[in-house]
Amino acid sequence: MDLEEQTLEKTGDRCEVCGAKLTGAELQLALETSGPALCTVHADEVVPLDDVEAVEAD
Ligand SMILES: [Zn+2]
Repeated sequence: MDLEEQTLEKTGDRCEVCGAKLTGAELQLALETSGPALCTVHADEVVPLDDVEAVEAD
């Protein structure tokens, strides 16, 4: 078993879009927004999943 890998696999460790390892700042942003774990590139492109439909209706 690879315990180190399990530790790293916990929520929000990698970008959910491209799978890139997140930096500390990117991880913190994901925690602060309670949003999906996203790298800087995809965090800038993807809106929070909470109200996607509301955003479209705007
Ligand atoms: Zn990404």
